[in-house]
Amino acid sequence: MPPELELIDYHVHTPYAYCQQNMDPELTTQLAKEFGLAGFAFTEHSGQLYFDGPTFWHAEFMENGLETDHGHQNRMPDYLKLAKRYCPPALLGFEMDCDYQGRPVIYPEDLKHAQVRLASVHWLEELKKEEPDIDLACHEMLRRLSVMFEYGVDILAHPFRIFTRTETPEPKQLVDPLIELLRKHNVAAEINFHNQITSEGFIKKCVDAGVKLTFGSDSHNLYEVGEHYPHLQLMNRCGYSHSDLSHILYKAPAGAELAHDR
Ligand SMILES: [Zn+2]
Ligand SMILES: [Zn+2]
Repeated sequence: MPPELELIDYHVHTPYAYCQQNMDPELTTQLAKEFGLAGFAFTEHSGQLYFDGPTFWHAEFMENGLETDHGHQNRMPDYLKLAKRYCPPALLGFEMDCDYQGRPVIYPEDLKHAQVRLASVHWLEELKKEEPDIDLACHEMLRRLSVMFEYGVDILAHPFRIFTRTETPEPKQLVDPLIELLRKHNVAAEINFHNQITSEGFIKKCVDAGVKLTFGSDSHNLYEVGEHYPHLQLMNRCGYSHSDLSHILYKAPAGAELAHDR
């Protein structure tokens, strides 16, 4: 990556992800540097840090969130300990799951360590149905995110991934209200090519609305770290030059690198 762009990968997983393949924070740090990134953030799935694999994968914690009465397995202290060894230069973050009521699946005392707070919708109740109604699914997503954003979120991860396997990978009726919600809460939208395509139309609308964008590799394997070529190509197709990026892309608040002392 061109070092002068000072790109930051705001979405990188760790050995604590159930779905990772070979993540290693030491190698991630080295690779990010060799790739010419200005930084990267560890953003582990909060639901995976609190619940065992079967409970997470069967979405059994989604109904009651942190109040779920089974499947608890708290790996949060271990994650924080490991990640903090690399922060700085890394940023410490979470990919927060959002339960069916829209509440973040993370305890406030853990969230206070975050320098980067990603919000993710990995399940929609409506899409579990045999013949889901896309309008209702969009409505559910907006309802839950409007609750979640009240708790404080920096970045919406893979905004449309949940719709990837439907007939409408980027539902038209969701685009404008979602951008309005992001704008209202000052939440950035992630450009993510890990099992999702981000459209030029969405990007241009975000920029026009003043919604910041982030580049995320969503690395589950070391070969993905800092792979922002598709992101740069997308920006190019949208007509943005390299010099435009500095005011289009999100920047973590200055001083965040001091948080390791907390
Ligand atoms: Zn995700
Ligand atoms: Zn992820």
